[in-house]
Amino acid sequence: MTRVFNFSAGPAMLPEPVLEQARDEMLDWNGTGMSVMEMSHRGKAFMSIAEAAERDLRVLMGIPDDYKVLFLQGGASAQFAMVPMNLLRGRTRVDYVNTGAWSGKAIAEARRFADVNVVATGEDSGFNAIPAFESWQRTDDAAYLHYTPNETIGGVEFHWIPDTGDVPLVADMSSTILSRPVDVSRYGVIYAGAQKNIGPAGLTIAIVREDLIGEVVPSTPTMFDYKTHAESGSMYNTPPTYGWYLAGLVFKWLLGMGGLEAMAGINRRKAEKLYAAIDGSDFYTNPVNPACRSWMNVPFTLANPDLDGEFLKEAAALGLTTLKGHRSVGGMRASIYNAMPEAGVSALVDFMADFEQRKG
Ligand SMILES: *Cc1c(COP(=O)(O)O)cnc(C)c1O
Repeated sequence: MTRVFNFSAGPAMLPEPVLEQARDEMLDWNGTGMSVMEMSHRGKAFMSIAEAAERDLRVLMGIPDDYKVLFLQGGASAQFAMVPMNLLRGRTRVDYVNTGAWSGKAIAEARRFADVNVVATGEDSGFNAIPAFESWQRTDDAAYLHYTPNETIGGVEFHWIPDTGDVPLVADMSSTILSRPVDVSRYGVIYAGAQKNIGPAGLTIAIVREDLIGEVVPSTPTMFDYKTHAESGSMYNTPPTYGWYLAGLVFKWLLGMGGLEAMAGINRRKAEKLYAAIDGSDFYTNPVNPACRSWMNVPFTLANPDLDGEFLKEAAALGLTTLKGHRSVGGMRASIYNAMPEAGVSALVDFMADFEQRKG
């Protein structure tokens, strides 16, 4: 069996040692005689798995004690609704930064609950740049400010944290969480679907400052109230147990790699290598302003789009898969999350040079 370098934006690659451990433990977790999938979520065995995962995530990210870590379902998309439902707390106005496709979806959902002020939009730049903080038109009494630190489709990433003072800062970190250290204390809420940089699809993690929990908009369903999950250790109902377990294995793997500081070094190297290959050629182009290029998702186009099909086919034959760009952007996209080895980026860069030489 050969494993490919899978450049999918999500669900994405998982670290091989994690998959191997999951395989070894598949039929019998730690002498229990059963798979983690078959365990009661309230039993001692699974409780120990759940607690270890939370503990390790807290260590990795340096999550302060006054933050709850919630293991949820519904994806980042459900958080688009849960954020306003939980954070409005009697207010009506909310601030959103629009830097691309995922911001747009978060904004559309928030409009169902609140008066949304778009403080800034990257539209003028074709969403290829982040509007300067000085230009943001913020609301004085905003219940919170929401932004998307990494736009997975456009490949645009904040390399700084907005300073919103007393206004709680909310971040959809789906495609950048765990890629580098982050000062959690700057945030009111951080949330992420797991399938990019945490584990398998089906698990969503929300890190919520405790004082923001407890006052939801009227008629909020029980399952959409952060308090429900905060008070029950994310076990109000059956949580996504297997995803939780795999996420825990990923956290252990990250700790073994040296933590997020070490991952940031690796991720920076991978991104720089790929952008250098793109910028150094007349054949490949990345449209994003270099100051806000994503470390995780690198879109690029070929000078001749008629060659896209051939590029993808040849790449796949070499075990470089899922490079097709999002339908809204076209061209290619290489997603290079934590689990993409440096060797995968090297192989891609070598193939790109070779393809250009033959066809460019
Ligand atoms: C993938 C993604 C989403 C959607 O996540 P789901 O878990 O599928 O709901 C939202 N925001 C960002 C930034 C993403 O990358």
